[in-house]
This record gives sequence, structure tokens and C-alpha cells, in this order.
Amino acid sequence: MTDNAKRFPLTLSSVVDQKSKTDHSKRSVATPQTATKNAAWESSRPVPVPRTASGAAPTPSVNRSMARPAQTASHVERSDSMVSDGVRKAMVDRVARQGVNDARVLAAMEAVPRHMFMEPGLSSQAYIDASLPIGHHQTISQPYIVARMIEIMRDNQQGGVLNRVLEIGTGCGYQAAVLSLVAKEVYSIERIKPLHELARSNLRPLRIANIRLHYGDGMLGLPQVAPFDGIILAAAGLEVPQALLDQLTIGGRLVAPVGSRHQVLQLIQRTRKFDWTSTTLEDCHFVPLRAGTV
Ligand code: SAH
Repeated sequence: MTDNAKRFPLTLSSVVDQKSKTDHSKRSVATPQTATKNAAWESSRPVPVPRTASGAAPTPSVNRSMARPAQTASHVERSDSMVSDGVRKAMVDRVARQGVNDARVLAAMEAVPRHMFMEPGLSSQAYIDASLPIGHHQTISQPYIVARMIEIMRDNQQGGVLNRVLEIGTGCGYQAAVLSLVAKEVYSIERIKPLHELARSNLRPLRIANIRLHYGDGMLGLPQVAPFDGIILAAAGLEVPQALLDQLTIGGRLVAPVGSRHQVLQLIQRTRKFDWTSTTLEDCHFVPLRAGTV
């Protein structure tokens, strides 16, 4: 558990120990998928709900607006948060089964209340393994790919230490919140003004001190605060902008989806001032990276 993790007003159970017992031998690959397809498919299935010791399933509600009138507000809030803790734990177990091994990343995923980044109508689907709409034709990325990209970025020569990281595509702010638990400083850029503001209001109640949100074109990076130990792109371009490669530290790692219809996850490492190596990892599906602001 880190100082950063302690900043969340959340129950951070002893997840790190639990993760080390997980069987990671089966590694699977994310399949390309669209938010709408997922939302439609998943809405026809029940939300995965953890079983109690007796085998009974608690009420599968993670949506505060679904409070039952017969109970007091604090009682409902408490039981809702216990249910979302359980459902989130199930999400993290699934992400681990899909091949994410990094205990620090899994602990961060378990700490961030993903349902608080969704509009109320979708929050009951917050913990399914899917990207979901957040408005303006954009999506919150699927939990597996969020975890996987951060795991790849952390697998550096410094034993996972990340001082300053940059995210391109804040969206609703979820990945920035997860990043805030694995890096000392997180900078995140969004090009759509209403989404930049949505992320601000989603993150406010979590009172995370080490995230800086910027409204602008992320393809330009943030030269005024560079260099970054890690850069994550949450949107896919045909290539990674040179400006971002130039803003990596030597030894820094950039993880980005690349392509249009067929996309692959790429890891780019800066090995020297003018040398970068590129590794293609697995198929993925992201919204497009676009220039300029709206
Ligand atoms: N990180 C988000 C994912 C958001 S989806 C999460 O936690 O789930 C990707 C986002 O990238 C969209 O909001 C889109 O508007 C944004 N985006 C696309 N091109 C961009 C650019 N050039 N600069 C900044 N943001 C960009």
C-alpha cells in the first residue's frame, strides 16, 4: 500500500496479498470490441455479483440513485458501497485471469470506484469487462486494457517507479485515477471541453492531489512539463506523434494503440536521445486520436 493509495477515501483491503495467490498461468488477449456492441450485449446479462459465504448473492446495485425508500440514506450508501467493493473485486480477479500480473496495478484497479465515472443509467454495468459510452462518441476503456497498458508502462528499468506520467485522452477521468495510484504525478489531456469538465467533476469527490487535467490537443503533449517516465494514449492514431516520443525520458515507456480498423497495442521505449524501439503487443480497439480541440 502506498501513500498515494491512502489518499482515497475508500476501503483498500489487503489486495496485494490476495493477488499473489491468483493463478496467472492462462494469458488471454483482449478482443476488439465496440462500446455500443458491448453495452447492448452486456445489458442483456446480469451484472456479475459476488457470492457471500452462505452462497447468497447480495443486491446487485452499485447505483446510488436506486436507493430503496424503506432504508435510511446512510444504510443504503453503506450497503451499496459494500456491493460495489465486491463487484469491483470480481472485476479485478477477472482482469488477473486475463493475464495482468502486476499486483500494484491490480490493487489500484480495486481501489478506484469505476461506477463513479459513469452516468447513473450505466453505473450498474461499470464492472463488466467492456468499454462503455461516456458521451460525445467517446468511451471509458474496458478494465482489462486499462490495467494492461499501465502494467506495460510500469515494467521499466526502475522497478516500476514512475515519477511523472502523461495520459492522452482523459475521457471521464477513470484511467487518470488508476494512474494516480502508481505514479507520483499524473498529467492528462483531453481535447473535448465537456469531457475535460466531466473528468474534473468525476475526480473532485475523490480528492486526488497528484492529477493535473489539461484541456488541449494531446498530440502536442505537454512540452512545458516534459519529460515523462511514461505516456499512455487512450485513443488510436495511424502513428504515434513524434512530439510525444520527444517528451519521454531516456528509459521512458509509451504505450499506445496504433491503427484504424485493425489496431495493435504498441510499446515504444526511448533507449537514447535519438533512439526509440517499438514492440507490437496485442490487438485492441480504441476510439480515434484526433488533432485539435472541440
Ligand atoms: N482514458 C479514458 C478513455 C477515454 S476515450 C478512460 O479512462 O476510460 C479516449 C479519449 O481520447 C476521448 O475522450 C477523446 O476525446 C480523447 N482524444 C482523442 N484525441 C485526442 C487528442 N489529440 N488529445 C486529447 N484527447 C484526445
